[in-house]
Amino acid sequence: MDIVDYSGFKVLTANWTDSSISSDIVKILESNLVEIWSDTDDIYEYKSVKMMVPGDFASEFTVRLREKGVFVNEKIADVGALLEAQKEDKKSKMAENPTTFAYDVYYDYDELEEWQYKVAGKHDFNSKVHELGSTFEGRSILGFEMGDLDISSEKPKIIVDCGVHAREWIGPAACRQFIHEMLHNVGYPDREIDILSDESNAMAGDPYTKAEMVKLFDDFNWFVILSLNPDGYQYSHDVDRMWRKNRADNNHVCRGVDINLNFPIGFGEKGDSQTTNPCNFEYPSTQSFDQPEAKAYADWLELLNEQGGKIAAQISVHSFGQKVKYPYPSDDSDKKTEMKTVTDELTKTIFDAFGTSYTSTEFNDIINESGGRLTDFTFHKDGLNIPYSWIYELRDTGDYGFLLPPKYIKEVGQEMTKSFISLGNYLRN
Ligand SMILES: [Zn+2]
Repeated sequence: MDIVDYSGFKVLTANWTDSSISSDIVKILESNLVEIWSDTDDIYEYKSVKMMVPGDFASEFTVRLREKGVFVNEKIADVGALLEAQKEDKKSKMAENPTTFAYDVYYDYDELEEWQYKVAGKHDFNSKVHELGSTFEGRSILGFEMGDLDISSEKPKIIVDCGVHAREWIGPAACRQFIHEMLHNVGYPDREIDILSDESNAMAGDPYTKAEMVKLFDDFNWFVILSLNPDGYQYSHDVDRMWRKNRADNNHVCRGVDINLNFPIGFGEKGDSQTTNPCNFEYPSTQSFDQPEAKAYADWLELLNEQGGKIAAQISVHSFGQKVKYPYPSDDSDKKTEMKTVTDELTKTIFDAFGTSYTSTEFNDIINESGGRLTDFTFHKDGLNIPYSWIYELRDTGDYGFLLPPKYIKEVGQEMTKSFISLGNYLRN
C-alpha cells in the first residue's frame, strides 16, 4: 500500500470576530479540500477553526478567507516534512535505547503490544494483560489490569480507554505513561530498587508524591485499554497518519467505522452519528455493536461490573484541545452540578502539575443529544450504571494538533495522572 503523502500540506488556524459569517466559513471549508480538525460546535462557539489543507491550494484559499475578514495563521508549514522528521527522530531514539523501553516515542501497535506483555511479565504480582477480542485485521484488543488481580475483590474499578481514534497518538502514549508511573511508584514487593527505573524517570521532577500514587493503586483496581483501535492505529503508522476510524470493510465501499459512535444508546439517531456514508470520517456503521472493538469493550465492562467492586468511573482519552468533558442527564440538575464541580477540580489539578490550562466543559445532554457514543453507553446504560465518565482531550490546542511532538508525552501523561489522583480523592469520599 502506498503511504499517503502529506508533503506540502499546511495546518492553518482561522479566526473571525463576526459570528454572522460563521456558517459561510463552514460552507467554504466543507466545499473545499479541507480537513477540519475542530469540532463543529467549537467552530461556532469560538469563531475559530483548525484545519489541514493541500499546499498548492493553501494560498488561494487563504486569500478567499481573508476577503471575508478572517485572520489566517499558518501553524505547520509542511505536514509531510514534519512527519518525516518525527519518523527519523523515533528511529534514532529506538536505536539509542535497545534494552529499556523509551517513553518519549510513539509506539506502533506491535510495540505497544510487546511493551504491555513485557511490563506485565515483570510486574506479574500486580498487573496482567487481557485479550478482549480481535479486530477485522486479526489484531488482539488488549486490556491492561493493575491492582490486586482479584476480580471478586470489593475494590472499586476505574476504566480508562485510549486511542479509539487512530490519529490521536498522544492518547495511547499518555496512557502508557500512566501505567509506567503507577507501576514505577508502587515498585516490587521484595525489592528496594525498581528495575524499571532510569535516570530520565527520576522522582524529583514528578508532579506528585510516591505516596499519592501508591494510595491510588491501593484503593482501586485499574483497567486500561491502551489502544481501542488497533487496526486504525497501525494504519496511521504505516499508511495514513491522519486516519481516524478502524479498518472495517463496509462492503468494499470505503474502509472504516468510527468505533466511538458504534454504541447502542441513541445509535444513528442524532448528531455526528447520522451519516450513512461509509466514506465519512464519522461513519458509525449500520448497526450498533457490529464492530469487534466496541463489542469487546462493552463485554469487558459488563464482565468487570458483574463481580466484586463496581466500576466507579470510566475515562475515554482523546486529543486534541485540552479539555475535560463530562456528560450529564438532562433530567437531573444536581448531577449536572456535581459533574461540573468534579470536572473543574480535575482541570485544576492538571494545571497544578505543569501549568497547562484545560477547559472543563459539558459535552452533551445525554438524553436529548446522545448519538451512539461510547461515553453515552458507559454513562447511561441500564445495568452498567457507571456513575462518572469523562472524555479527556489531551494537548495541545492546535499548534501541532494530532502531530504533537513526542517530547511532550511525559508531561501530558503525568498531568493526566495527577488528575486521576484527584479523581481518586473524590471517589473515596
Ligand atoms: Zn477522538
